[in-house]
Amino acid sequence: MTFIPSTHPRAKSLYIRERLVLAFDKGLVAKEGLMAHGRGEAFDYLIGERTSEAARKAIRAAAMMLMAAQRPVISVNGNIAGLCPKEMVELAFVSGAKIEINLFYGTRKRRQEIAKVLKKNGAKEILGIKKKDAAKLSGLDSARRVVDKNGIFAADVVVVPLEDGDRTLALKRAGKKVITFDLNPLSRTAQTADITIVDNVVRAIGELIKECKKNRPVKKFDNKKNLASTILEIKSNLTRRARLA
Ligand code: ATP
Repeated sequence: MTFIPSTHPRAKSLYIRERLVLAFDKGLVAKEGLMAHGRGEAFDYLIGERTSEAARKAIRAAAMMLMAAQRPVISVNGNIAGLCPKEMVELAFVSGAKIEINLFYGTRKRRQEIAKVLKKNGAKEILGIKKKDAAKLSGLDSARRVVDKNGIFAADVVVVPLEDGDRTLALKRAGKKVITFDLNPLSRTAQTADITIVDNVVRAIGELIKECKKNRPVKKFDNKKNLASTILEIKSNLTRRARLA
């Protein structure tokens, strides 16, 4: 492990990286997941490795949407299982959401490893495992369109952290409301979702759980406007740093 004092401003993101590498070694995360994480790290650097005011707004809106949902589902992939399994189980508990394992690069073995980690962290029911419950989302290639008929297929609101754009588009076409965590405000997922939390999922998930517990009434939220203010904030961070250089 890279040695860096815990008081160093970059310590947290290096710690997160090490967690992902450990999860890769345990077979939870795919190689492609490491690359997606790298892309996330680059954007985290640009947003200043902190939760912005725009992200807080999106977290509040996401909590309201989740608590008002009839059939909410949290989609868990390898990166999420490696980074914050306990928090995902807690989010499911406080919001009444189901948990579904949904993998871009899925093998039976990886699915089982992820289920094991979720169970160890308190998950009682995990969807996306039984073949007999498979249903298909239209508009996607064969492996990725499979979802659970009692989970994402029937959901009204789906939380898809660290998702790729094709699946987000397919979920939208299927009439779902989509909440995502995505550090890249320009990704297709970020631009397609109903609510995009532009923050590191590890930093933001605790805030989302807290907000769900407040159970506030739903208010209007403009995702495009919120994303635009995030992009402006990145621009002003860069300008400030360029002046200091
Ligand atoms: P799209 O298809 O939506 O345009 P993409 O091709 O970048 O995006 P992926 O490769 O699946 O999609 O990447 C997943 C996304 O997750 C990336 O945008 C990355 O910035 C983001 N990401 C990675 N790690 C984290 C993290 N810890 N917290 C939040 N977002 C993250």
